[in-house]
This record gives sequence, C-alpha cells and structure tokens, in this order.
Amino acid sequence: TNSVGQTDPELAAAIKDELGRQQSEIELIASENIVSQAVLDAQGSVLTNKYAEGYPGRRYYGGCQYVDVAETLAIERAKQLFGVEFANVQPNSGSQANQGVYQALIQPGDTILGMSLDAGGHLTHGAKPNQSGKWFNAIQYGVRKQDGRVDMEQVRSLAHEHQPKMIVAGFSAYSRTMDWAEFRTIADEVGAILFVDMAHVAGLVAGGSYPSPFPHAHVATTTTHKTLRGPRGGLILTNDEAIAKKVNSAIFPGIQGGPLMHVIAAKAVAFKEALQPEFKSYTRQVVANAKILAETLVKGGVDIVTGGTDNHLMLVDLRPKGLTGKATEAALERANITCNKNAVPFDPEKPAITSGVRLGTPAGTSRGFGEAEFQLIGELIIEVLDGLKANGEDNNAAVEAQVRDKVKTLTDRFPIYGL
Ligand code: PLP
Repeated sequence: TNSVGQTDPELAAAIKDELGRQQSEIELIASENIVSQAVLDAQGSVLTNKYAEGYPGRRYYGGCQYVDVAETLAIERAKQLFGVEFANVQPNSGSQANQGVYQALIQPGDTILGMSLDAGGHLTHGAKPNQSGKWFNAIQYGVRKQDGRVDMEQVRSLAHEHQPKMIVAGFSAYSRTMDWAEFRTIADEVGAILFVDMAHVAGLVAGGSYPSPFPHAHVATTTTHKTLRGPRGGLILTNDEAIAKKVNSAIFPGIQGGPLMHVIAAKAVAFKEALQPEFKSYTRQVVANAKILAETLVKGGVDIVTGGTDNHLMLVDLRPKGLTGKATEAALERANITCNKNAVPFDPEKPAITSGVRLGTPAGTSRGFGEAEFQLIGELIIEVLDGLKANGEDNNAAVEAQVRDKVKTLTDRFPIYGL
C-alpha cells in the first residue's frame, strides 16, 4: 500500500499546503474546529471500505460485525453526552440530518416556522433557495431591530397566525442564549413539533456551557464538526421512541443509502473526547475567549450585534468604521486571519458585500489560545480594520504585512498536529 505522497504528489501537495495554512492562520470561522489526531485516524481508516445499509444488528450486508461495534459506540456515547434516549449517528451532514427530521415528521406543503437566514438562521430552516423553503410553506421569524435579539413575541404571534406543524429553533449566526423552554411553550400552544437545530452550540451544550435544548425539544439535530469537534457529519437526537423510529426510516432508506462508517467511527471518537472532563474546560474557555474578543473589538470601535456574546461566536457590525464585510474578510485574510463576511440584521448591503463579519473562538481555543491570545487577536483585527479604513477600503499592504508577522509569532507558539 502506497501513501498519497507516493501515488499522487499533486494531491499530497494540496493536503500539505492546507495543513500549512491551518498552522499559520488564525482560524476565526465560527463553524470550524481542529479535530484530534484520533478523530483523523478513525476517519482515515479501513471502515471506509464497508457497506452497512441498515442499523446495528439489522443490516442488509454481511460482514458488519465490527462496524456494528463502531456505530453502537457512537450511538451510546451520543445518548450519554446529551442525556437522551435515542440517537441516529448516520446523517452525512447537518443539512441531511435536518432533511431527515422533515421527512420523518412533516409532509410537503406543511407549514414550518423557522429563523430567517438574514437574522441568523440556517438555509435549511426554510430559506427560499433551500429544499426546506421550496417544499414547505416556510414562515420566518427574525430578531428585534433595537437589540438584535430573537423576538419571542413575534415567534408567538406568527405561530398563532400560521399554525405551523413544526417550529424550528436554532441558528448559524446568533450570539445569545436561546430560550428553548419558551419555544416549547409556544409550540405547545399551537400543537407544533419543536425541532431544535443546535449545530453551532452542540459542543457547548455537551460541555455544560450553553443550555441544553432537552427536555424541551421533541427532536434535535446537530452537526458533529463545529463546537463538538468531531468529523464533518450530522446527528439526530430525541427522547421520543415514535419519533426515533420515524427518523431512522427517514435517514435510511428515506434519504440516504450506505452510511459513512469511517465517519461514524470518528464521531464515536469525538463523542468519547467530549465526555472527558477536559472538554468541559475547553467549552468554558471557548465562551470566555469569545467574551474577551467581543470586548476588545468594541473597545476598538466596532459594534457587536446584541452588544456581546453568550456563546462561541459574535457578529461584528463594521458600519462604525465605514467598512464592508467583503473588504474586511479579504484584508484579514491577507493578514492571515480567516473569517467570513456575514450580513448583520437589517443589513443595507447586498449578501455578497454585507456590513459584517462573523467570528468564532472554537478552533483557536482548540489550539490552546486563551484570553490573553484572544485579546491580542482582537487588537490585531482592529489594526487591520483601521489600516483598511485609512486607505478607503483599498489594500493596506504595510499594515497587513505587520499584522501577518505578529500572527506568525502567535501561531508558531501554538502548533497544531505537532508542526
Ligand atoms: N444547521 C445549522 C444551524 C448550521 O449552522 C449548519 C452549517 O452551517 C447546518 C445546519 C448544516 O450543516 P452541513 O454544512 O453539515 O450541511
């Protein structure tokens, strides 16, 4: 057996370059993380060779005795981690987990109520270009103009007006605690199913640093690769046996074929890691780091939507500096700080431009950055923004080079994968 380096130097170079990029850049994309070597090893294992349609003990293929062990470990650990009765670890992604929930519990044409994309919701919560927006009558709630917070009274009045079959709670760009209990109260008032998509905060929930959607949610999904720090993939959780049965049939044979057994093995590894006491401290540090980053940025003269953060992420409103998200993302990238432009609520700019960037601390915290480092990162970001502002949004090569040097000093002190 030959390694990628021997058989495919072109591809090996791309992998090596990507590793170099991850080592030398400060990763602030809120949905990303840096997994352990053990997760990488499990995902790169011979389990990729195996077809295992069905579920442990009930497969449509022979030779599943060892992948059954792997999937059972993943299921049992997921249940323990979130304190629930049933887990489906097969969704290939967060989007497919959500598709599985819809397929299991509602019909095309049914009404759903989810958070709008511009307010911080996800595409799969009923956005127009997504299947969830095309197949369902999707009503969308948002945040209040005055404080950027989810407007529970709007959720309640939309629920009473439109009588949705399902209410979707969860977000991709919202920095505050969600009142899961109040969502459930509203769902009960109108007889809707409460579906929580905790993709962004699942790791924080597992580590006790963010409120759990259970026991409020009828069903919850998450990705496994964000704060949860596992391989790319999805997970569905519930305490309701009838829902669990429907979800299992919806995932297979409803929308997927053979499960990715190597990814499921890597999920099992990540869940075991998340069950350790160190993961609790990791999630506390993620939140503490986000707080100091937000404070430093506010001191530096930008706004944070809602004024701060309770979780791992924040939406930076760049308008006080007269900058766009697009120009800021590009300038930070030239300084080796990676993030994504993101619309702020009621953004006057087009989605391809935006007035904001979304920043998160999960990846930096995984490589060992603490509050001192995140304060420095906040100061470096402000340095780039002020440089950009001074040049009317054109490149400020001098400032960006200066910051890039400081980034290098920092990333060299915190190597990843033994680099
Ligand atoms: N749900 C939420 C809230 C997300 O933020 C995301 C990813 O950004 C997803 C679902 C989709 O996950 P995936 O990219 O794995 O399909």
